[in-house]
Amino acid sequence: MKKMIESQCAMCDVPLQERRCTNPEGKGIKGCPTLLKKDMAEKARREYEKDDVREFARLTSVQEGECYANRDKSPYLMHPVKPRILEICEFAGKMKFNKLGLVFCGGLAKEAEAVSGIFTQKGFDVVSVMCKVGGIPKEEIGLKDHEKIFRGRFEAMCNPILQALIVNDAKTQLNVLLGLCVGHDTLFLRYGTAPATVLAVKDRVTGHNPLAAIYTAGSYYAWLGE
Ligand code: SF4
Repeated sequence: MKKMIESQCAMCDVPLQERRCTNPEGKGIKGCPTLLKKDMAEKARREYEKDDVREFARLTSVQEGECYANRDKSPYLMHPVKPRILEICEFAGKMKFNKLGLVFCGGLAKEAEAVSGIFTQKGFDVVSVMCKVGGIPKEEIGLKDHEKIFRGRFEAMCNPILQALIVNDAKTQLNVLLGLCVGHDTLFLRYGTAPATVLAVKDRVTGHNPLAAIYTAGSYYAWLGE
């Protein structure tokens, strides 16, 4: 049987502006999904024909454009001007979402308070739920004492399923994730029903900037590839 060539866009060595996906005259590498996945592209296109999906995608791209200033200049040099928190507020406004869920990690409680304040000042109703909600001991999901962060005492498990159930019940229209752990975010995304976006992800050693380790992967973080 012929082996399927899987998509490897991350390994594409065609200059960005000469890639088939960014340029109708462009080229792709072996296995290029723009060149090979025509049926799937058609399937995706049909999804965008659904009114709600189309409007969501349209407003997302309108928002994307509005994150850059001076677009009347030619040639244009990208001039981004909006931090993600503003991008979220403006997009939620465009979508006419009034009620936002803010699901956050206890390690970012101060940040959550600030974010909640900004959302409120912008006129949104906010439902916020911290990860430890429910106060259930980690032992309940099978952790041994030595697997906890603080051994020998009570430690509440992160409860992204309860976070999801609470914002689902509150009928939030857009959920914003702030600093959830790897995997806890996965569970929240699985159980939450409203659309969700991420304000920030947790990275304990880089000030929640995981790309810091990637930018220095050729030097200080070279050991990551060992
Ligand atoms: S879609 Fe094709 S051209 Fe675009 S990055 Fe992937 S392999 Fe390269």
